[in-house]
Amino acid sequence: MKKIIVAIDGYSACGKSTTAKLVAAQLNYAYIDTGAMYRAVTLYFIENHIALTNPKEVTQALRDINISFQPNPKTQRSDTYLNGINVENEIRKMYVTQQVSPVSAITEVRKTLVAEQQKMGKRKGVVMDGRDIGTTVFPEAEVKVFMDADLTVRAHRRQKELMEKGETLNLEEIVHNLKERDRIDTTREESPLRKAADAHYLDTTYMTIDEEVEYVLHLATSRIISLNKSNSTIC
Ligand code: C5P
Repeated sequence: MKKIIVAIDGYSACGKSTTAKLVAAQLNYAYIDTGAMYRAVTLYFIENHIALTNPKEVTQALRDINISFQPNPKTQRSDTYLNGINVENEIRKMYVTQQVSPVSAITEVRKTLVAEQQKMGKRKGVVMDGRDIGTTVFPEAEVKVFMDADLTVRAHRRQKELMEKGETLNLEEIVHNLKERDRIDTTREESPLRKAADAHYLDTTYMTIDEEVEYVLHLATSRIISLNKSNSTIC
């Protein structure tokens, strides 16, 4: 059975990771949260006081960083590890979220993580979410989805998520953070966030998670079926 790559890109807090995780589980594919990788690098930079404008420091720091994902039996999901330490909760905190887009705009950071992500998806059978998966990491991905949603709806969703983790933030602060991240992510020089020409545009403003999952699953399964059909015809 031939496997495919499902690339899910889009603005912050549109439901990408929730949808991607569930789609991966249904397809029995690996889920790769590329945002978590940028967050882990950001955490390392904060903890080690790396000067973002000093290319030597950044390059050395990137050599010292090892990011991995390991399954968590309690949550049935994968946790992010930075140099062997579980940082899953820490990287979701607001002080990391506020720094992640400037760190992600650094060319060296992107080159390193994109190469890592390409290795992870080399054998296909992955659902990867981020900002540049369909444009830069896997421009040849068989299924590409670009997610968008109304800013206020996104902010409410993020506020709820943070509250569930014990962080209380007012809506204005979250709106400001989402706007700022979107601005930096879409205007950076290296692989800015944009919809790939062949990506399916999905506005999730009025959609439930189940509907989002169904939409992506339908695209993925149709593609898998046609790929395996054409393969067997050739054989
Ligand atoms: O997806 P998440 O919101 O966790 O991503 C955090 C940040 O990481 C984004 O705002 C963006 O700056 C960066 N990112 C990126 N490219 C990716 C994934 C995330 O630049 N492929």
